[in-house]
Amino acid sequence: MVGSGAGGGTVAARLAEAGRSVVLLEAGGDPRKLSGADAAFPSVNRLPKDYDVPAFNAFASENEAMKWDFFVRHYADNGQQQLDPKYFREFQGKSVDGVLYPRAGTLGGCTAHNAMILIAPNNSDWEHIAEITGDPSWTGERMWKYFERLEDCRYKPLHRWLAKLGYNPTRHGWKGWLPTEQAMPMAALRNRSLRDVVLESISSSFFDTRQEDKQLRWFFESLLDPNDWRLVKQEAFGSRFTPLTTRNHTRFGTRERLLETQRQHPNLRLELNALATHVLLDDNNRALGVEYLHGERLYRGHSHASSGAGEQRRIYASKEVILAGGAFNSPQLLMLSGIGPRAVLEPFSIPVRVDLPGVGANLQDRYEIGVVNRMNFPAWSVYKNAKFSTDDPQYRQWQACRSGVYATNGSVLTVFKRSPVTEGPPDLFCMALLAKFEGYYPGYSRAIVQDLNYLTWVVLKGHTRNRAGQVTLSSADPRDMPRINFRYFDEGGDLDLKAVIDGIRFVRKLTSALERQELIQEEVLPGKAIESDEDLGAFVRNNTWGHHASCTCAIGPRDNNGALTADFRVHGTKALRVVDASVFPRIPGFFIVSAIYMIAEKAAEVILAA
Ligand SMILES: Cc1cc2nc3c(=O)[nH]c(=O)nc-3n(C[C@H](O)[C@H](O)[C@H](O)COP(=O)(O)OP(=O)(O)OC[C@H]3O[C@@H](n4cnc5c(N)ncnc54)[C@H](O)[C@@H]3O)c2cc1C
Repeated sequence: MVGSGAGGGTVAARLAEAGRSVVLLEAGGDPRKLSGADAAFPSVNRLPKDYDVPAFNAFASENEAMKWDFFVRHYADNGQQQLDPKYFREFQGKSVDGVLYPRAGTLGGCTAHNAMILIAPNNSDWEHIAEITGDPSWTGERMWKYFERLEDCRYKPLHRWLAKLGYNPTRHGWKGWLPTEQAMPMAALRNRSLRDVVLESISSSFFDTRQEDKQLRWFFESLLDPNDWRLVKQEAFGSRFTPLTTRNHTRFGTRERLLETQRQHPNLRLELNALATHVLLDDNNRALGVEYLHGERLYRGHSHASSGAGEQRRIYASKEVILAGGAFNSPQLLMLSGIGPRAVLEPFSIPVRVDLPGVGANLQDRYEIGVVNRMNFPAWSVYKNAKFSTDDPQYRQWQACRSGVYATNGSVLTVFKRSPVTEGPPDLFCMALLAKFEGYYPGYSRAIVQDLNYLTWVVLKGHTRNRAGQVTLSSADPRDMPRINFRYFDEGGDLDLKAVIDGIRFVRKLTSALERQELIQEEVLPGKAIESDEDLGAFVRNNTWGHHASCTCAIGPRDNNGALTADFRVHGTKALRVVDASVFPRIPGFFIVSAIYMIAEKAAEVILAA
C-alpha cells in the first residue's frame, strides 16, 4: 500500500485485522515523534501539541515538520489568477505560481492536520455511483453500513444505551474505530455574545427557510446532529453542530488507527519515510510491487526538502498494490508508472503502459468564501488571555479536563441550506467560526489567532458542477510536485457562483440581528459596499478557495473519463487499485473525509472477498 491518510490508513488497518500481510509505504514520518531542536524547522517543537489539541488544527496544517505545501492554480488565465490576494508567484525563493493548498506528508496524511469535522455525505452521492456502475452495492442505504462500522459515537449516551437494547433509530455506529465527540462546550454558551451568535443564527435560519414544521421535527429528532440517519435520509436542512473525530477531545485519525492495529497485528508493517516513485508492472500490466526512495523529507512539497537523493528500494506484493496517496499524488504516481493520458506522459518521455485519460482529469473541489466580521469588543471572553500556546488558561483547562474552547476547532454552529440553484440535497454549508479566516496562504494560522474578536461565516458550496480541473505532471521526477489547475467556474460556473452569492446574503441575514445589537463593529470582508450580484461575483471569483481536492482517478467507464472500476481497480491493469479522495466521480457531501473513510471500509471488504 502507498499512503497512510484517510483512505490508505483505513484499508490497511482493516486488511491487517483480517490477517492479511500489509506493508504500508508512507512518505512522511510519525508526526508525534518528530522532535528535537532542529533549527531548520523550529515549529517541530510545537508538534505533539499542534497535532493533539483541536483548537491548534491550523497550526498543525502549517507545521513545517510535516506539511507539504502545494501551490495550485485556480484559473488558467493569468490576469484572473493574479486578482486573488492569496496568489504567490514566488515563495521562499522558489517560483510557485499559485495559491497555497495545504497537505500533510506524514503518518495519517491529512487526518493529521485537518479540522476533524465529520459530516456524513448525502445518499444521492452514492446513488450516482450505483447508477453509473450498475452496481447496487453503492446505493445510499447499503453504504451507510460502513459509516456504522467505522464510527464510535460518543456524544449520544442515551442512544448508545438504547442501541444496546436493539433500538438504534439514529443509525450511528457505537463500536467502530473512529471516535466522534461533540466539542462546543456548554460553558461557552454562558458567554452572552457567543450565546447571542448561536441563538440568533439558529432562529434566523429557522425562519428563513419557511418550513418551520419540518425543522421542528428534525430538531427534536436529532438535536442538531448532522449524522443522525433520520436527517441524512431526508436530506434535511437547518442548523447543526459539528461532530469532531477526537478521543477525549484529542485528535484521532488514521495515525492512531494504524498504530493501535499494529500493536495487535504485527502483520501490518509501516514503512515510514518511504516515497513511492512508481508501480512495478509486468508485460500484462499486472502490478508486481512498488519502487520507492527511502529517506526523510524527499518530496519537494516539504518546505525543508532534503538535498539527498534517498536510497532506492523495491518491494513486491504477493497479492496486489493499493495506491492511497491522495487526489494529487495517486494520479501523479500512476502517470509516473505509465498509466495516464498519453498527451501528458509523452512530453516527459514516460513510456505509455495504459493510455488512460481519466487519470488526473475530473479534479473537483468546493468553493469556499468567508464573510468576516470584527466584533465590538476586544476579544471573545472564551479567548481571554489566550495565546494559543501551552502557556495560557485555555490550554491548562484542556490539559486538565479536556474541556473549554481548545477542545473545539473554533466552529460554533453550522447551517445546511438549499440555494436557489439546487433541486437535490442542501448545497450550502455555512459555518460560524470564532476567528478571522480568509482562506489558506503562508502564515494564515498565525493570522487566525492574532485578533480574537472576529466572527467569520464560512460559506461552502457543495456539489459543485465544475469537472474541468486537472492534475498533470511538471516533470518525470517523482520528488517534484505535479501541476494542478482547478479551472474554477469553467463548467456550471454561473449557477455555482449564484449559489455562493446566495450563501453570502444568507449569512449576512444571520448576522443582521447582531448588528442591530451593535455586537458587530464592521463587516471587514467582503465589506458592506460589495452588494450587487456583479460585485459579489467578482469578490467570490477573486477570493474563493477549497480544501477537499478529489475525483482525479474516478470510478466510472473508461470511455467517460473513468479511471477505476466499481471495485477500485485501475482500468487496463491487474492487481492495482486506488482507494482515497481520488475515486469519486463527483465530489460528495459537504466534508469529504467521512466519504473517504466509508469508501475505504468498502474497499477493504471488496478486497477481502476477492
Ligand atoms: C487544512 C485542512 C483541513 C481539513 N479539514 C477537514 C475536515 O475537518 N473534515 C473533512 O472532512 N476534511 C477535511 N480536510 C480534507 C481531508 O482531511 C482530506 O481530504 C483527506 O484526508 C484526504 O484523504 P486521502 O486518503 O485522499 O489523502 P491524504 O489524507 O492526504 O493521505 C495521503 C497520504 O499519502 C502519502 N503519500 C503521497 N504520495 C506518496 C508517495 N508517492 N509515497 C508514499 N506516500 C505518499 C502522504 O504523505 C499522505 O500521508 C481538510 C484538509 C485540509 C488541507
